[in-house]
Amino acid sequence: RAKADGRGTYRFFETGMDARAQARRVLERDLRLALQRDEFEVYYQPIRDLEDDRIVAFEALARWNHSLRGLIAPNNFIPVAEETGLIVPLGEIVLRKACADAAGWPDDVAVAVNLSPVQFKNPNLVTSVKAALQASALSSDRLELEITESVLLQNSEATLAVLHELRGFGVRISLDDFGTGYSSLSYLRSFPFDKIKIDRSFVTDLATRDESMAIVRAVTGLGKSLGIVTTAEGVETDAQFDLLRQEGCTQAQGYLFSPPRPAADVAKMLRPAPERSVA
Ligand code: C2E
Ligand code: MG
Ligand code: MG
Ligand code: MG
Repeated sequence: RAKADGRGTYRFFETGMDARAQARRVLERDLRLALQRDEFEVYYQPIRDLEDDRIVAFEALARWNHSLRGLIAPNNFIPVAEETGLIVPLGEIVLRKACADAAGWPDDVAVAVNLSPVQFKNPNLVTSVKAALQASALSSDRLELEITESVLLQNSEATLAVLHELRGFGVRISLDDFGTGYSSLSYLRSFPFDKIKIDRSFVTDLATRDESMAIVRAVTGLGKSLGIVTTAEGVETDAQFDLLRQEGCTQAQGYLFSPPRPAADVAKMLRPAPERSVA
């Protein structure tokens, strides 16, 4: 009886695994086709300087314009792209499009591109970054590469060498989603990051939880002492914005200013907003 139950459970489990593996295979096949058909687009979200209220950069965020399913957000395809290695060609497409688009923006506006840990296992990463800069004629100091703490968890000697090489020719390196990893602080000692991006989870309840406020205050203070720019992610309310400015956070990004938008909307986002009438 117990045995029968066990078998039944196992079989059910096995079927579930099959269904998941099957869905993953379909997604992998669709991703390959999408790469061939050039179905990936890059959306851009503005990053504002909190002192002079100017847009200083846009973050490039991948979108899959699926022929049947419409626009698909990265959380639905980046994990499988990473498992299958397809993030390497996909990441290269995003990098090339982002550099090409940014080359048409004003000189004082940078572009930030996310890099997956899997891209750091590819020996051609540095070459492909250089090639993207060359092809677009974008000055290297206008390219920021965002990495998460997980990049430094794997083969960190080799990874650090790559980061130093990238920084050596003028590219800036940002530490993304700061505070969500296991040993965030130790990474600040291992590499001279140009920017810390404070994870959205600390910004969300900034105005309502003392702990989040204390953490944001500590990170902006740390940034100031180390001479590192701090960018708050996921700013949605005026209250969060005011607190961040008060704490001396350098930059902010979030729906309060704009969601990510297609490349064609960048010029519109750069135009100064009409003066708000004072009551
Ligand atoms: P991320 O790099 O931390 O990017 C910020 C994410 O927060 C974006 O989600 C953005 O749309 C979202 N966001 C911005 N402001 C707000 C806000 O005020 N409220 C809320 N709720 N969300 C906000 P998105 O575009 O869905 O991207 C999710 C993640 O996928 C990114 O997180 C990044 O880790 C990854 N990703 C996106 N594009 C690429 C890419 O080209 N390559 C790689 N390797 N990863 C990418
Ligand atoms: Mg990012
Ligand atoms: Mg982030
Ligand atoms: Mg994130």
